[in-house]
Amino acid sequence: MLQRADAVKSVDPAEFTRLIDQLHSQFNDLSAQQREHLQYLQGWRFAYSGDYAKAIPLLESLVDSASDPTLQFRAGSTATNVRALSTQYEGAFLQLNKLLNKLPEVTDPDARLQGMSVAADLYTLVGEYDLGIHYAQLVVKENARGRGVCRGEQIRLDALCKSKRIKADDPSLPAAINACLQQGESLAANAIRTTQARLFLREHRLDDAISLLERHYSEVEQSRYPRGISEWESLMAQAYQQRGAGVNAQRMASRAVEHAVKDQFTPPLIGAYRVLYEEAEKHGDITSAIAYLKKSAAADKAYLDDVTARQLAYERVKSNTLSTKSQLEALNQENKLLQLQGQLDSKAAETSRLYIALLMLVVVFIALWAYRTKRSQLHFMKLSQVDSLTGISNRPRFIQLAEAVLETARKSQQQASVVLCDLDHFKSINDRFGHAAGDHVLRQAVIACQSHLRVSDIFGRVGGEEFGIVLPGCGLEDAKQRAERLRVALNEIDPTYQGERCQVSGSFGVTSTEVSGYELRQLLAHADAALYRAKAAGRDRVLPYDGKIVPQEQPDPPIDDELRNLGHA
Ligand code: GH3
Ligand code: MG
Ligand code: MG
Repeated sequence: MLQRADAVKSVDPAEFTRLIDQLHSQFNDLSAQQREHLQYLQGWRFAYSGDYAKAIPLLESLVDSASDPTLQFRAGSTATNVRALSTQYEGAFLQLNKLLNKLPEVTDPDARLQGMSVAADLYTLVGEYDLGIHYAQLVVKENARGRGVCRGEQIRLDALCKSKRIKADDPSLPAAINACLQQGESLAANAIRTTQARLFLREHRLDDAISLLERHYSEVEQSRYPRGISEWESLMAQAYQQRGAGVNAQRMASRAVEHAVKDQFTPPLIGAYRVLYEEAEKHGDITSAIAYLKKSAAADKAYLDDVTARQLAYERVKSNTLSTKSQLEALNQENKLLQLQGQLDSKAAETSRLYIALLMLVVVFIALWAYRTKRSQLHFMKLSQVDSLTGISNRPRFIQLAEAVLETARKSQQQASVVLCDLDHFKSINDRFGHAAGDHVLRQAVIACQSHLRVSDIFGRVGGEEFGIVLPGCGLEDAKQRAERLRVALNEIDPTYQGERCQVSGSFGVTSTEVSGYELRQLLAHADAALYRAKAAGRDRVLPYDGKIVPQEQPDPPIDDELRNLGHA
């Protein structure tokens, strides 16, 4: 029913009204979308009957709220038209702006034709002929259901006529009339004929104008379209008058006034009053002449006011639109600026991240470098502290450790002993079996001694074949016994070396803190004295310090300041 009502609304007003009433009685059964469609049709009906005040709110509320975009657009087209018809030009142009913004998304061909036609009409109405022609050409180009050529050409030719850019002989005039007739649009065909008649008049081709207007007059009368009829009759009146057919002119002018839409001051009405005034004046009917002249002047003024109002409204909306556009443009620029700022910020952040990464890399590199340096330092330190042949402490390291142990013992007043051991006749081992054999014996001697030493004992190689031992917590007697065990261990070293016999032995000198005090230098000197005694007594034995420092033939101080310093380092 809704679709049927839509289809017949301009063809069969009675059926249309009946359908709308019926639909309204079933309002509760309609879906939301159907209700919106009904609202549109009701708006259309009010507009058709001239009740613009009721039509406009019904239609315009749909423009913003209808769920179907096509219906939104159709309501907008009709609303624009109604506003223009009711001379609310500013509202009409505001609606038109909305309409044209929606146009790209509208796909329904009929709705597009309707919207673009409204745009073309309205622009032509305010003298924006190029814009009017542009939209008229779009209507022709899209030619929705074959109706576009008739509808578009009608507006385009009107705009061309008003802007004086077309001649009466232009072949597009008969072509457009034919297109309309083929579609059964006689109203539009006659509208184009009025344009052609106006052009004939402009070119003073009065015979052509009268012939055209007379030929189709009865057809126009039958259309029951007062506005069209009035315009037609006004043109006929003007043509007759110019031709000198005063009676016909007067008759037609009277009819034109009679058929004119009430309160609508159009150029045809003004023209008709002018004909009546001039004819009355010609016949000396001054009273009538003055009356028509007054009406002509009043219509003329009203029409000019209307034109001014249209153009003012258009200019106002246009400048508002432009300022909105420039505001939007400014906002866009601002947005772009913000975006750029954002990009800049993120670039800066990226750069600082890079810096941080670089810095971290440098820090890691430095740490790695420091670690490696420290490691090699430790490595070298260890190397400098260890005897490479035997793996036990070298002389500086032995002195360092020995002093530390003695210091601890001194503080806690505990005993400690120092033993010095020198391998016997070592030179002859080297001499007889070679240096490698000597090295082998040195290593074997260290191993033999280590198996009898505790973890807390300090053991170091203090000379070529001379070893120092500090025994913390050991008194002299203890130390002697333990040195004795070491002596036996040396004797027990396997004497065979590469098939040769090589007996190992060592001489030991022992002293302790009870005898020599806690000074390492003193302790070593006393142990050395004891060792000297052991050698002198026949070697391979352990002797304690007996209180006498024996002067040596080769003074070889067991410790000197230079080595002590090295040890500390
Ligand atoms: P004594 O019983 O009187 O101690 O006699 P000795 O031969 O052991 O004493 P001397 O001091 O005359 O000789 C020590 C020898 O030790 C001299 C040197 O060639 C040798 N020597 C020192 N260090 C090393 C070493 O690292 N390896 C080898 N193979 N021999 C070494
Ligand atoms: Mg020696
Ligand atoms: Mg020796």
